Amino acid sequence: MPNVIAIDGPAGSGKSSVSLALARRLGYLFVDTGAFYRAITWLALQRQIDPHNSARVAALARQAHLDMHPRPSADPPYTFLADGQDITAQLHTPEVDAYVSVVAANADVRAAILDAQRQLAKRGRVIMAGRDIGSVVLPNADLKIYIDATLDERARRRYRQRLAEGKAADLEAIREGLRARDQLDSSRDVAPLTRLPDAVYLDTSHMSLEEAVEAAYRIVTSHDCADNARA
Ligand code: C5P
Repeated sequence: MPNVIAIDGPAGSGKSSVSLALARRLGYLFVDTGAFYRAITWLALQRQIDPHNSARVAALARQAHLDMHPRPSADPPYTFLADGQDITAQLHTPEVDAYVSVVAANADVRAAILDAQRQLAKRGRVIMAGRDIGSVVLPNADLKIYIDATLDERARRRYRQRLAEGKAADLEAIREGLRARDQLDSSRDVAPLTRLPDAVYLDTSHMSLEEAVEAAYRIVTSHDCADNARA
């Protein structure tokens, strides 16, 4: 079985839900790296720092004490502390969604949190999800998976998710938000979202969550780690 699994893909592809369900099934740790970028974005907004001000946001990322505690069996599957304060519940607000990709395009921000992400992976038996896990954070992962879905389907999922949470939702606004975030995440100079040639591609557009988890489980359990060693 692969010890370290890197899962990348665009927003709303099912990456986090599939990774979490897979981690629970395998008894692995799940690390959702988007939380780091969300935490820095939230801190910047709290302190009225313009997310476009690269120098100030980078200084904030270097100074802040960020602490992620994965706990795959709980909901949400991690606790995130910033300077000792539990900010887990603040990380998925529309305001954070709107600015997180700007913050994530900041090379100094990425450099500031890289080591914390790698330290989490060192625990082993880990599934780490994000945009640059296979390319930058864990280029030697035992298995890399790229999870994808069409923009329309991803927007519909987010829309249904928000309604299920009892929140207001506008399908067109969600679609546009995802499109803008994808565009920024894929076109930035540093660690852009890319489909790597050595990643197994999983398109979940026409799959339920259960089917996507099953497909990912089959990829993991049929993976021959010796392939990586030979490559
Ligand atoms: O996965 P999630 O939607 O929570 O990620 C939020 C944002 O954080 C992404 O849109 C992306 O800009 C950034 N991100 C990143 N690299 C990662 C994980 C997330 O740039 N490894």
